[in-house]
Amino acid sequence: MKVTVRSRLVLTVVLAALLPVILIGLFTVYNGGEAGAGNQWGALVLIAVVSAGVAVGAGILLAHSITAPLKSLQEGVDVISTGDLNRKFVLDRDDEIGDLSADVDRMRRYLKYRMIELEKLFKIGQAISSELNFKQLLNIILNTIIDELNADSGSVMLLDEEENYLSIAVARHLPEDIINNTRVFLGEGIVGRVAQTGERLMIEDVDNSPEFKALKREGVTKGGSMLSAALTVTDKTLETDKILGVINISKGEVGAFKSHDLEFFSALANQAAIAISNAKLYRLATTDGMTKLYLKRFFQHKLDEEIIRSKRYKKPVSVIMMDIDHFKNFNDTYGHQVGDQVLMDVASIVEDTVRTIDIVARYGGEEFVVVCPEMDAGNALHPAERIRSAIQYHDFRVKGEKVPITISLGVASYPEDAVERSELIKRADEALYASKEQGRNRVTCYRQIDELGLEIPSSQKEG
Ligand code: GH3
Ligand code: MG
Ligand code: MG
Repeated sequence: MKVTVRSRLVLTVVLAALLPVILIGLFTVYNGGEAGAGNQWGALVLIAVVSAGVAVGAGILLAHSITAPLKSLQEGVDVISTGDLNRKFVLDRDDEIGDLSADVDRMRRYLKYRMIELEKLFKIGQAISSELNFKQLLNIILNTIIDELNADSGSVMLLDEEENYLSIAVARHLPEDIINNTRVFLGEGIVGRVAQTGERLMIEDVDNSPEFKALKREGVTKGGSMLSAALTVTDKTLETDKILGVINISKGEVGAFKSHDLEFFSALANQAAIAISNAKLYRLATTDGMTKLYLKRFFQHKLDEEIIRSKRYKKPVSVIMMDIDHFKNFNDTYGHQVGDQVLMDVASIVEDTVRTIDIVARYGGEEFVVVCPEMDAGNALHPAERIRSAIQYHDFRVKGEKVPITISLGVASYPEDAVERSELIKRADEALYASKEQGRNRVTCYRQIDELGLEIPSSQKEG
């Protein structure tokens, strides 16, 4: 039976009130009304003293039984108030104070959980806000969220603002054809609705959800349970929310996510949206709108950084400069618009041919450049040759008819050819000129120029 503080209080008061009555009653019965008046007064005084003594004793015991645990409770709350949330705090008592201590401990555990979440959120925020490479950022976001929430698979879908549809930008453990072919228009199906309304969603059992068909059609989940949240940022100028996309994660088992997971997931999605928006602005400022490659200014800045790094770690860095052959003729024959398409294709071939750590930029009209960290000229000849051959054998077509496109390349390296940025670019450009002189569609290293016995006019280009 639960002995509450209230029942103890009542018991003490009742005892204090009834004890003199009981004692007087017993005294009367025992003496049979025969005691003298003097004796009666003496007995009454004795009863009063005994009753008062018992009442005071019971009061002191009662007070102690309340204040002692309250003191422990206060000490526990003091510890929590200093920020120490690790000490378990439950008083082993079957009364209101025991209940209160259990509530305080529940609060401690909740605070601890929230603190851990906030710390994680802060760390993730730091990690993603310093990453400006767009694709890398999306991968970090998705992988972090999947790992933190113990999910199996997931995707980040981004909104194509012109076409108003969402497509998968990065994914984990989703089939390749789903990644490449999924298109969800705003307002369409679950994901389209999440994006349009900016809401978040938890589906505990995808297979038994009326929305399942739509989800499966959208290709964002295979079954089990899933979380989905819109990636939105507030446009301060327009005072509206701007939709960037949607993030989805799934787990094979039913009911794998709880409501607090959805809260954490939403908080992470909000952080991710800010980082994505910053990276988009950065990309806008540093890349060329047509080819999506970095601009010349960014390339120069990156090359400076790479040379500093190479100096520090005593590693080489190479520059591959390239220029499409007879492109003026091509434009004159097929028109500028077709020429633009070729430029876009060449840009994406170059990007797909080199490593992810290599920096590809559009140096000028139909000239591209690649920075290859930790590669000397001999090593950089390989990616240069791969690019040349990929372009030569690519199936460029105009109105269904195959058209030949070739590219000439030049390679120069730090420190063997130059130790300073503009000098290094000049050397790569001279090697490119040598390729053109030698008949185009080829790769030349700067150090080969002397062997080839070529006269290179002083370069017009600036680094
Ligand atoms: P080569 O490099 O082999 O010596 O001959 P080329 O005809 O390519 O000569 P050059 O590099 O001097 O010509 C560059 C041409 O590239 C001129 C211009 O029509 C074309 N070009 C430059 N920028 C663009 C562009 O943005 N779009 C299109 N379609 N063409 C461009
Ligand atoms: Mg040119
Ligand atoms: Mg050219």
